[in-house]
Amino acid sequence: MNEEQIIIVGAGPAGLMAAQILAERGFKVHVYEQNKAAARKFLVAGNGGFNLTHSEEPEAFLEKYESAEIQKMVREFDNERVVQWLGDLGISTYVGSSGKIFPTKNFKPIQVLKAWLDRLEQLGVAVHYENTFVGFDASFVYFKKSEEKIGVPYSKLILAMGGGSWQKTGSDAKWVETLTAKGIDITPLQSANSGYNTASNLHQLQGQYLKNIRVSFGNHHKVGEIVFTKYGIEGSPIYYLNRFTRKHDFPLRLHLDLKPNLSESEILSALQGPEKISSTLKRKLKLSTTALHLLKTLDKETYTDINILSKLIKKFPVEILSFRPIDEVISTAGGVSFSELTSNLELMKFPNVYCAGEMMDWEAPTGGYLLQACFSTGFWVGNSILK
Ligand SMILES: Cc1cc2nc3c(=O)[nH]c(=O)nc-3n(C[C@H](O)[C@H](O)[C@H](O)COP(=O)(O)OP(=O)(O)OC[C@H]3O[C@@H](n4cnc5c(N)ncnc54)[C@H](O)[C@@H]3O)c2cc1C
Repeated sequence: MNEEQIIIVGAGPAGLMAAQILAERGFKVHVYEQNKAAARKFLVAGNGGFNLTHSEEPEAFLEKYESAEIQKMVREFDNERVVQWLGDLGISTYVGSSGKIFPTKNFKPIQVLKAWLDRLEQLGVAVHYENTFVGFDASFVYFKKSEEKIGVPYSKLILAMGGGSWQKTGSDAKWVETLTAKGIDITPLQSANSGYNTASNLHQLQGQYLKNIRVSFGNHHKVGEIVFTKYGIEGSPIYYLNRFTRKHDFPLRLHLDLKPNLSESEILSALQGPEKISSTLKRKLKLSTTALHLLKTLDKETYTDINILSKLIKKFPVEILSFRPIDEVISTAGGVSFSELTSNLELMKFPNVYCAGEMMDWEAPTGGYLLQACFSTGFWVGNSILK
């Protein structure tokens, strides 16, 4: 057994992956976690379909991350390695119709986690629950346990405390204050994989879906399904566009192409026929009921001008006002800036202290890309220490 004292803070996917890599190479690893149980957000991710990664080819896959640092780490420990790692834990996987990779139906999220925790236990990893990280110096990391403050010596310290959404899972981002006080540059956390609040004219469509539409913001676009809510819009094309809208100030304008497979002139020529506009939209152009309701939010003059209407079917403007509140979204953008980290993910100002997972400054859309990057950064940091 290696004598290094490895302490990992945060028993989420990133911290547990680093623990596994190091324990497999003979290190004694201690994981400290403020909850009573490990990986609660990982389990929450399993509620709506447990997509652990995606089957896309490397280039399309890497395009989902803007951060070159994350791209490099995902390339090193990629989707195939995740599938192999799961297989090694005894978890079989399949590729869903959307390309997302899930555990096969016989494995519930809790079983995936149990298989992982069992493996870590066999490797001698000790998990210490109900310990809240409150700080560190060059030799000790400090936790609050019950009302007591305890100092634990470390030779290598890995911080993997996650982002700031869904605080009830334990990822409360209180570390932001602690690290900021130590002079570490933290890009402010912001909602990611977030719906948008829209102008109120769309709120009447609450609960209705638009399928197979193309949503665009400038040159960026994504085809998929969106849902109208009491405050605005949600859906995977919306989440994909978050990172591009983030660079601008609200209010902003998205555009919906309600008929991606037809050109504007094809739509116009259909509307030039003898039938009433509403029946052409419904019968000839086969617009969905929701699309018809959306077009009905236009004023009468616009709706009845077929030149304008055909343009709007291809490019319906949606005014977006803001992201949703951080606590309700799937992930957060922002975090420990890469300018504070070496290529080993070690804090430049604090040698022997490393970061991994969502607490660093990157973002990705849902679809397995978040967990993939958490696994990859945990792997990377574990390997950096081995080197
Ligand atoms: C509703 C929902 C659905 C999701 N769906 C998907 C999906 O389908 N696909 C996908 O790829 N991703 C999904 N995600 C995102 C994914 O779960 C996260 O990106 C991932 O869990 C982040 O991993 P992490 O290890 O960096 O941090 P976390 O999983 O957040 O773990 C951090 C751990 O650190 C602990 N901690 C925090 N502060 C302290 C402290 N001060 N002291 C001690 N411990 C502390 C926390 O309690 C937590 O256990 C989803 C997230 C949510 C909320």
